[in-house]
Amino acid sequence: MTIAEPQPDVDTLLANRLRDAQPALWTNPARQAQPAAALPALGRSISLDDTKAAAARLDRFAGLLAQVFPELATTGGVVDSPLLPAATLVPALGLAEGQGRLFIKADHSLPVAGSIKARGGMHEVLEFAEGLALQHGLVEPGGDYRALATPAAREVLGRYQVAVGSTGNLGMSIGVVASALGFQATVHMSADAKEWKKDRLRQRGVQVVEHAGDYERAVAAGRAEATSNPLCHFVDDEQSFSLLLGYSAAALHLKNQLAEQGVAVDAEHPLIVYLPCGVGGAPAGITFGLRQVLGPHVHCFFVEPVQSPCFMVQMLAGPGEHPSVYDWGLTNRTEADGLAVPRASLLAAELMRPLLSGVFTVADDTLFALLVQVLDALGERIEPSAAAGFSGPAMLTGTTAGQAWLRSTGVDAVLHNATHLVWTTGGLLVPDAQYQGFVQRGRAVLAAQG
Ligand SMILES: *Cc1c(COP(=O)(O)O)cnc(C)c1O
Repeated sequence: MTIAEPQPDVDTLLANRLRDAQPALWTNPARQAQPAAALPALGRSISLDDTKAAAARLDRFAGLLAQVFPELATTGGVVDSPLLPAATLVPALGLAEGQGRLFIKADHSLPVAGSIKARGGMHEVLEFAEGLALQHGLVEPGGDYRALATPAAREVLGRYQVAVGSTGNLGMSIGVVASALGFQATVHMSADAKEWKKDRLRQRGVQVVEHAGDYERAVAAGRAEATSNPLCHFVDDEQSFSLLLGYSAAALHLKNQLAEQGVAVDAEHPLIVYLPCGVGGAPAGITFGLRQVLGPHVHCFFVEPVQSPCFMVQMLAGPGEHPSVYDWGLTNRTEADGLAVPRASLLAAELMRPLLSGVFTVADDTLFALLVQVLDALGERIEPSAAAGFSGPAMLTGTTAGQAWLRSTGVDAVLHNATHLVWTTGGLLVPDAQYQGFVQRGRAVLAAQG
């Protein structure tokens, strides 16, 4: 007589892979095709109107930004990136003929901050500046915001401080924009922040405070300092609506770019978007915007390093829990410094529950290999964090969990019409010496794979 072995259920397999720091895919059973127009998060609720308001604010400041940042003169102060066709990269990603086409949303080339953080970071600093400018009568509602570039206006803003805790890129965005507008700017950096980022900020007159601990410690230090100074605005990456809505405005631009490239998004033509995830604010803001603007046939996946899957562990947790990757025996050590976050934003997690399609993880070695493949196929320079999304198509088409998701959603039946969109989130400002080091490591990984 044989006794049937108990079959480990999928959740156990996923948990084991997660704990072993093996690439894993979680798909969201709570995703809704038709979510409510206004979604609750941290006791508030937000809708597409909030995204539009953020976009309108960025527009109001465009004239000033074009004046303050010479690199924005050509776009009239608009901060956006191109949508690039990437067919030459398809074979390297393990996508076969008939499994969809590939684009990248090239936020690695975003001006001013060199990363996706330009979107949210700029918006939050501008929202703070706008409030002060109206309060002090520096501009009229609907007036010309270029008035804020005058010495008198800068003197007023210079009484205020903007502070942030960051692994690097958010600090770069907030620090550079705040100091350009005349604010005192302070960036609390975690131990994993790169030296060149600190140097660059100091050159721009930003005060950099270094902390021995991780990202959470840097944020806590910044928050504490800000509480003691009434003239200080603290940009709280873990719970900021302003940051999140600044990111979400990207969806309005992308909708137009998709139309220009003739990419339809409907039941016959799904759009699958792969977004690198740190604390979750940037990918959640973009997913929120995309789901409002494009509807149920856009599927968004977050991607995290195998040692820092903070969003995945949050999505696996029960109500009221806020686990860290350390609780799972993981180290939070990764070369993808923009993604080295131990605990997810609860704002992002709550908002994503009905919207997100899934979360998956990727090994650091794979990030470097992908970074090189992107260079060779497209000539684009991205940083390791920004390579994470490129592991997405193979995760969906080449694993049991991915194939199960494709079948259960019906996407498999129309995969030949699908568009895969990989969001590349940073790279422009990486110094050449650092970048060459990334390329070397990537070539070594590829050589070892044969
Ligand atoms: C910050 C960052 C992300 C992720 O943004 P979060 O809001 O932290 O989730 C992705 N890629 C790069 C390059 C980043 O700097």
